[in-house]
Amino acid sequence: MSTLIMKFGGTSVGSAKAHAQAVEIVLEQSREWDRLVIVVSAMSGVTDLLIKGARTASQGDDQTYQGVVKDLRTRHYRVVDELLDGSGEQAHIKASVDQYLDDFAVFCNSIHVLGELTPRAMDAISSFGERINARILAAILRQQGLHSEAVDSTELIITDEKFQNAVPLMDLTRKQIEKVLIPRLDQGEVPVVTGFMAATEKRVTTTLGRGGSDYSASILGVCLDADEVWIWTDVNGVMTSDPKIVPEAISLPLLSYNEISELAYFGAKVVHPRTIRPVVEGGIPLRVKNTTNPKHPGTLIDQNPDLGKSTVKAVTLIEGLSMVNVEGRGMMGVPGIAARTFAAVASQGASVLMITQASSEQSISFLLPMESVELVLSALRDEMVLELARKDIDKIWSMDNMVIVTAVGAGLRETPGIGARIFGALAEVGINVIAVAQGSSECSISLAIAAKDAEHAVRQIHTVVLDDSGG
Ligand code: ASP
Ligand code: MG
Repeated sequence: MSTLIMKFGGTSVGSAKAHAQAVEIVLEQSREWDRLVIVVSAMSGVTDLLIKGARTASQGDDQTYQGVVKDLRTRHYRVVDELLDGSGEQAHIKASVDQYLDDFAVFCNSIHVLGELTPRAMDAISSFGERINARILAAILRQQGLHSEAVDSTELIITDEKFQNAVPLMDLTRKQIEKVLIPRLDQGEVPVVTGFMAATEKRVTTTLGRGGSDYSASILGVCLDADEVWIWTDVNGVMTSDPKIVPEAISLPLLSYNEISELAYFGAKVVHPRTIRPVVEGGIPLRVKNTTNPKHPGTLIDQNPDLGKSTVKAVTLIEGLSMVNVEGRGMMGVPGIAARTFAAVASQGASVLMITQASSEQSISFLLPMESVELVLSALRDEMVLELARKDIDKIWSMDNMVIVTAVGAGLRETPGIGARIFGALAEVGINVIAVAQGSSECSISLAIAAKDAEHAVRQIHTVVLDDSGG
């Protein structure tokens, strides 16, 4: 039995026109597959607005969220008016939009009164965009003659209680999917499942992290043993670089799971980084396709696609970082410094993007988002107070305005000298590389450089190294 999961991202269901296009695609694929499951995001920008409404309410502002309600009503009504005919479900779906927006206003009002916004409340609130959009899309599909219903993923994906970044409990999730989703599929239904949100065992709403609808799709994919998972977005698949930085960037027909993982981790905004693991475990091919250009093949991501001769396939950029350095000659050979360093970082909830240690062991450097650097520095200085007094550690300091440029390609492993070519390309234009790290999967090399050189570095590597390696 053939099974396909298709996820539509915010821009692919962000306007009446986009919804209409998505509906075309669903109708077409419903004829091709025995089982089809749709996963839908909120309309583009909606989650941001919901979060803004909640935040401002917690800060004493009881006007902004009411404005958000108006905006969201207009945006969703517009889609309903254009795509659902008046005689059918229009009124019913509008009432459902109103109900969710009323709930949102009630939540915001209590947050305003309490002056407190917990991660748990944030998850309840930020999931409204998906709840509404799934209802709208399912209604349009029904009107087109498809047997379709909205299904809240709180019934399907069970997670721990880490609100805003919950981790799915796969055994429980499998059971729920068997209980709730399989019977629907057996009856020929095309369920429209809300992306992004999930629930704890006690059915309290959680979310999988911003951009998490991709992850929802891959979780459903592995639990349903799908043949493929398709992520519909608004570009022709995964590109060699960000076209805003590199106008010559082109889309990549094939990538391996390792390559897409590195790309997603190092800033390519195509799929959510956590999407990859479930499909790897299930050996399920993942496709990234363009709703506005559905005939384009997009990018196929698979176990071992034919990698061809190219070594470096893509270049990414992460901006807004600081590099923290822990330095001292007395660190040499002292066990536990690295562990304590990163424990102190973790205690501040900061995520580290890249780590390097000089082999002389006289310094440890790592990059993290600039907004967490002050907290991390003071946590580190507290932790190392003795070492600093004894001068085992000379200083703990940071360099701000840094970026990470990452070159990704599975062929990096087999190709000697690729690092030298990357450095050569940058040296040619006088760009200084401050630190280097190679991913353990050996399919990426990351360079820490100054923000002022960022875009130039990306273009230079794209032009010199990608072209040379036939990527
Ligand atoms: N709507 C959610 C967000 O904006 C999830 C998603 O789009 O994947 O983060
Ligand atoms: Mg997304």
